[in-house]
Amino acid sequence: MKILVCGGAGYIGSNMTAALLKAGHSPVVFDNLSKGHRAAVKDAPFVEGDFGDPEAIRKALRGNRIEAVMHFAAFIEVGESVESPLRYYENNVSRTRTLLQAMEECGVEKFVFSSTAAVYGMPETVPITESTAKRPINPYGETKWAVERMCHFQSMTGRLRYAALRYFNACGAGSGGTLGEDHRPESHLIPIVIQAAMGRRDGVKIFGADYPTPDGTCVRDYIHIEDLCKAHLLALGKLDGERELAYNLGNGTGYSVRQVIDTVRRVSGKDVKVVEAPRRPGDPPVLTADASKARRELGWKTDFPDLESIVSSAWKFHESRPEGYGRD
Ligand code: UDP
Repeated sequence: MKILVCGGAGYIGSNMTAALLKAGHSPVVFDNLSKGHRAAVKDAPFVEGDFGDPEAIRKALRGNRIEAVMHFAAFIEVGESVESPLRYYENNVSRTRTLLQAMEECGVEKFVFSSTAAVYGMPETVPITESTAKRPINPYGETKWAVERMCHFQSMTGRLRYAALRYFNACGAGSGGTLGEDHRPESHLIPIVIQAAMGRRDGVKIFGADYPTPDGTCVRDYIHIEDLCKAHLLALGKLDGERELAYNLGNGTGYSVRQVIDTVRRVSGKDVKVVEAPRRPGDPPVLTADASKARRELGWKTDFPDLESIVSSAWKFHESRPEGYGRD
């Protein structure tokens, strides 16, 4: 299938592009390189453009005879979304609306959307199922949920088929450790701990050591990027017979911040300095996925459920690219 990968130069989009190629699809990467990296686009055609530009999108859709769109071009910083909510509504909602409109005009029906566990906010119970109440607690989660609702209503018209995939903590590096995380600034735990192990930052702050969890630090569900991408392929296939799909993507196993730090120490053989810092606002103590729906309906199985293999792949990426993707 010919697939437009919006945000295909970013962390998840570049891994998805690689997975599509491997599965025999023909992805076309569409990215404005505001966050993504040209060097992360390897073997697929690349179109530099903005998904908020209707003409550029229509041209990319028609010119490449696109049959489905996968959308990864969103802003993802919770703190920044609280500081600048309008920026998040503009990028994550308004531009996605433009993209959906261009798809409608070009008769492209299939859409795979990168959603997030942040749509659930502070859930009362874990693991989280797809029917857990959606109560986002920051503009980031709210904008992702707004797009899911927009897709829902658009799908009711019969002009859209979509899958919303709610990621827990995407991490690790794909394609033999060559496609990894390089966010600027970096806020995600695993790359931060790895950078500390490499001596590229002084140490790691643990945001809260007084949570009601076994070791006092937050517990998250870390999911390897290649496992995540595998679920997208399966969801895309299922859109032939379905108009509306939503799945949680996680392993169902939680690891604490301290466990992540210890795993990086073990995998790298390096020490990591740690300081206990205040809680980060909006962090629930435990977030784990009930992903049984994806396993049951999509036949999804994860290949890298253990933290050790996730961290090893990420370590490989950072070791081979200490500066990340550089400036290209
Ligand atoms: N975290 C931390 N120190 C850091 C970065 C993150 O203690 O420098 C914690 C954070 O509070 C959360 C967990 O690590 O409990 C995972 O955070 P991340 O930002 O990677 O993902 P999130 O769960 O927010 O999507």
